[in-house]
Amino acid sequence: MNVSVVLFTCDLRLHDHPPLRAALDGARQVVPLFVRDRAVTAAGFDAPNRRAFLADCLRDLDAGLRERGGRLVVRSGDVVAEVCRVAAETDADEVHLAADVSAFAHRRERRLRRALEAEGRRLHVHDTVTWAVTPGTVTPSSSDHFAVFTPYFRHWSRQRLRDPLAPPRAVRVPDAVGSGRLPTREEVPERSPGLAAGGEREGRRRLAAWLRSGLAGYADGQDDLAGDATSRLSPHLHFGTLSPVELVHRARRAGGPGAEAFVRQLAWRDFHRQVLAARPEAASADYRTKHDRWRSEDTAHADVEAWRAGRTGYPVIDAAMRQLRHEGWMHNRARLLTASFLAKTLYVDWRVGARHFLDLLVDGDLANNQMNWQWVAGTGTDSRPNRVLNPVVQGRRYDPDGTYVRRWVPELRGVPGPAVHEPWKLGRERAVLDYPEPVVGLADGLARFREARARA
Ligand SMILES: Cc1cc2nc3c(=O)[nH]c(=O)nc-3n(C[C@H](O)[C@H](O)[C@H](O)COP(=O)(O)OP(=O)(O)OC[C@H]3O[C@@H](n4cnc5c(N)ncnc54)[C@H](O)[C@@H]3O)c2cc1C
Repeated sequence: MNVSVVLFTCDLRLHDHPPLRAALDGARQVVPLFVRDRAVTAAGFDAPNRRAFLADCLRDLDAGLRERGGRLVVRSGDVVAEVCRVAAETDADEVHLAADVSAFAHRRERRLRRALEAEGRRLHVHDTVTWAVTPGTVTPSSSDHFAVFTPYFRHWSRQRLRDPLAPPRAVRVPDAVGSGRLPTREEVPERSPGLAAGGEREGRRRLAAWLRSGLAGYADGQDDLAGDATSRLSPHLHFGTLSPVELVHRARRAGGPGAEAFVRQLAWRDFHRQVLAARPEAASADYRTKHDRWRSEDTAHADVEAWRAGRTGYPVIDAAMRQLRHEGWMHNRARLLTASFLAKTLYVDWRVGARHFLDLLVDGDLANNQMNWQWVAGTGTDSRPNRVLNPVVQGRRYDPDGTYVRRWVPELRGVPGPAVHEPWKLGRERAVLDYPEPVVGLADGLARFREARARA
């Protein structure tokens, strides 16, 4: 066997990459290929922040391959047509690809297999590239997936993970195969000004720093909004510049309560993947409890706009929504609060919020985003679907001094301490603040939610 193609998708790395290793073991030459798939654009999934981060990742992958004597081949168009074209140009026998869970990924895999086999070539799909434990390998006796996290996590924790693979020493790419131009982040308009840098090297640098000085404090600091004490590795996991298998191994090796809490969060990532793999329609349809009384974007237009703009009059919600716009990223606790506020306090269809998150999040990920939104909205896997998070109580608990709010809401910078969470109580001082009144009273929001749920 002479040539194999490796189709990179959301696995943009050289460390611990089973498809690349298999291709190098089986062929003299390998084509590392990335296709800018026009179907992703047509589906509105290549939001500016992810496009900019992706540009960093592709450039870094290309640089890593060049250090090993190779290069990245980039094409644009229909992914199946482009892979077949490259395979034909290089007379490749095999194509290697990482498995993925969405309906889109399943369709891509089926189409690719059919088209390649029609030309006498083989498609190899590799597990444990984009997750640690493969969806469907741990199941309850009565179903094809777990709908509750705790028992899933018990089974997940007992799985033996494969050892991480070293990056290749050399990659030989056929000379004749042409490539399109690599994109740059600078050419992406409307990206967030505070967007993090992408690429495997950057991911590994962040990971090393995290293991050295973040992980130990994670169990205690994970919910501290101002402390910003989470790993911020989510975009690297989304684009696969870091391997989930390697992360679990390295965290476990570090040990301690911080590592345990961190590995648990990585298991949440796999949990949502096994739900979406079994129920791909849950990306847009209510997963467990159906609700059809949501306020739509049209009926709740002003409220939705206030939420998106960070002008709801609830400081912790507004701080979080402004952080999202500025960085393309948000702390998990802030995601819980803003999602609960939209879906429960404003009683707006969770899909409206999930779409906005996907438009801005650099880690915007179908499984994690849609299934977390459903969890918060009470249509998903939360065992307490009727809980409503109070933004004042939560603000005081997770931003006790108000530092997070003052960081993102300049109108409130002059308000000291926790009083910043309730600007309507400020008396005369309130009148001079250019800050909105609450879009809804919390008691009114709660009453609307309870009434709608009682009638559902
Ligand atoms: C409404 C809502 C929407 C979300 N949308 C996304 C999304 O589009 N993409 C995304 O990656 N995460 C999403 N999350 C999950 C979580 O908020 C982020 O993964 C986390 O905030 C990323 O920051 P971090 O890397 O510092 O996380 P850390 O706390 O350092 O956790 C490490 C990793 O574990 C995984 N993880 C952590 N929490 C969760 C969780 N609740 N569910 C699944 N995986 C988790 C992530 O891959 C994360 O990078 C969402 C959560 C909510 C409530």
